[in-house]
Amino acid sequence: LVSLRDVHLAFGETEVLKGIDVEVKQGQAVSIIGPSGSGKSTILRCITGLLRPQRGAIEVGGVRVDGLRTESELIGLRRRVGFVFQQYNLFPHLSVLQNLVISPVKVGGEPRARAEARARELLAKVRMEHKESAYPGELSGGQQQRVAIARALALRPELILFDEVTSALDPEMVGEVLTVIRDLVQDGLTCMLVTHEMRFAEEVSDTVYFTEAGRIVESGSPARLFGAPASERTRAFLQRAS
Ligand code: ATP
Ligand code: MG
Repeated sequence: LVSLRDVHLAFGETEVLKGIDVEVKQGQAVSIIGPSGSGKSTILRCITGLLRPQRGAIEVGGVRVDGLRTESELIGLRRRVGFVFQQYNLFPHLSVLQNLVISPVKVGGEPRARAEARARELLAKVRMEHKESAYPGELSGGQQQRVAIARALALRPELILFDEVTSALDPEMVGEVLTVIRDLVQDGLTCMLVTHEMRFAEEVSDTVYFTEAGRIVESGSPARLFGAPASERTRAFLQRAS
């Protein structure tokens, strides 16, 4: 469903991605781990079209996305690829339910009643159905993040990218958000996860990629990569992270 081939990206003189190859099949959960500044978020931002690599190819669902230019092409891509990041970025002036309804209605042209019915289903999925009338400011960080995940699902994306979605949360709220993601993965959601939660990555991923300094050092099944890392770099990182 997603493929990156030899992706290179530089900010000015600084090369941040130095030939990235990643493959995600339909229904898979793929994690990217690695030290701060190694390029993890940059990889995800390339897939959403927010950044354009100077070299290489990126495909989502068989369509090249690295060359998209027009606003409508980019909006089309953002409907196909959901993105949830550390800051929840809910619309503060809209209720939880309206946060989920606004894009399907405004961008997707869905009838409001249908969008609301779907929003309620999604809120149940993230265990937030009891808060549909609340405003984001009245929710805990973990609750806001679960609503943000439901909102990303509201446009029926082909895949969702999660970038450190638990990093800004108090420790006691991390579990509830990971539980929601685990459920979605079990339901067959295709996703890419950038995370510092090594145990979670090990548990839910089909494949794990370890990045360092803009390169994929190694990738493999979680059992192999965590159990018997091939590279000394990976081994050292995992030792520090545990
Ligand atoms: P973290 O774990 O801290 O989130 P990361 O692996 O996600 O790190 P990226 O955010 O992808 O790292 O950044 C990779 C490199 O690119 C870093 O050295 C960063 O300073 C640089 N970088 C990121 N965005 C920009 C930008 N807009 N302009 C210039 N340099 C940038
Ligand atoms: Mg990052």
